[in-house]
Amino acid sequence: MELDPDTCYKAVASHDRRFDGRFFVGVSSTGIYCRPVCAVRTPKRENCTFYESAAAAEKHGFRPCLRCRPELAPGHGLADISGRLAQAAATLIDEGFMADAGVAALAGRIGVTERHLHRLFTAQFGVSVLEYVQTQRLLLAKRLLTDTALPVTEVALAAGFGSVRRFNDVLRTRYGLTPMTMRKRASEGIADRLVFELGYRPPLAWDALLGFLAVRAVDGIEQVRDGAYARTLAVESGGTVHRGWVRLDHVPGRLVLRVTLSASLARVIPQSLGKVRRLCDLGCRPDIVDRHLGDLATDVPGMRLPGSVDGFEIAVRAVIGQVISVVQARRVLARLAQAAGDGLEAPAMAIVGCAPLQYCFPSLPRWPRCLPTPWLQPACRQARSARCARFLNALPAASCRWSRICRLNRPWRRCARSMASATGPRSTWPCAHWAGPMRSRVPTTHCVRCLA
Ligand SMILES: [Zn+2]
Repeated sequence: MELDPDTCYKAVASHDRRFDGRFFVGVSSTGIYCRPVCAVRTPKRENCTFYESAAAAEKHGFRPCLRCRPELAPGHGLADISGRLAQAAATLIDEGFMADAGVAALAGRIGVTERHLHRLFTAQFGVSVLEYVQTQRLLLAKRLLTDTALPVTEVALAAGFGSVRRFNDVLRTRYGLTPMTMRKRASEGIADRLVFELGYRPPLAWDALLGFLAVRAVDGIEQVRDGAYARTLAVESGGTVHRGWVRLDHVPGRLVLRVTLSASLARVIPQSLGKVRRLCDLGCRPDIVDRHLGDLATDVPGMRLPGSVDGFEIAVRAVIGQVISVVQARRVLARLAQAAGDGLEAPAMAIVGCAPLQYCFPSLPRWPRCLPTPWLQPACRQARSARCARFLNALPAASCRWSRICRLNRPWRRCARSMASATGPRSTWPCAHWAGPMRSRVPTTHCVRCLA
């Protein structure tokens, strides 16, 4: 990616929030790199160098600023970037994909060879994949040391360092700091929860986003009240499923979302924060979106496309939502959650005054083999419920295709369209990757593995 130094410097001088997260500025007189929105005095032009990523700035010897905190910068939206594949890989890394996988697995996931991935990465971010991963780990550790009261051992493991010793070594060589000096100003955390902040580019139509989530909130899985949203999360890592909850509050004065995670998600923090980013579309660039929306955005600037925390979940919700009304869908989903959802260890009151959070959304392995039509009644009329059941029964088999469709933060309607095409006519070509009773329903062209 080519950065124009003059434009970048103007953005730094005016603290232009549209550029937050799109580049970082390294200041040679201090050895520190900052977000363009940093509140410190604007450095002299001749001392500034601009980098596409935090990793590139660190590669050139700069340390992260403790004031603007580069780890809080919003990410990229998928629509606004030329190197989509490199960005998709970077997003996966940010969300903790590399916690249990290597570069080869990452390359396989986005469908390119390892060598090509390195080429893409160097062109887009100016660093190798491993350098990028190392920087993300350090920034996560910095965030955990500053924002939580987790012990250093936990911080090292949660950030993906194999041992505390390795963590200390890297921190000393890269930042010239020890965990304790970094923690000096850390706030006292509450033992059973972890609190973080996620930045965004203003404006953010939080009330509109919350309104969308509120009318679709499923009892036992989600809570919405007094401007806050909470829901349960199930995150898989290293063969273990971590279940807990997340609560989101908007802090307009600081232009961040305050994210509270239950302590049970301490081992999967990057994955959980990644899901929140996706759900709230925090990588969005509202200046571009609002320009395209024109008059439609006048009353509600900063609208986002709500994403999802899980591909399978959005598939189910989109199908049910397309067949029956939103109100009926809520009832059906609550019934499904009760019957097939994995329960939390104890009901959680993330938001006081709402029905407690009790279940995670039913996962693919626990999805009923054949969904009985009566489950959907009396919520909807017979013909509709039969159609709905047919769609839902076909879901698990076709989910390999859908997980890819839905992973990319697509709007609900588009997911639903893609899914409708996947559940279309029966194919006489069964997909070899999906055995079982639904096998003949998955047309070969819809399986990601067949296509690869
Ligand atoms: Zn700064």
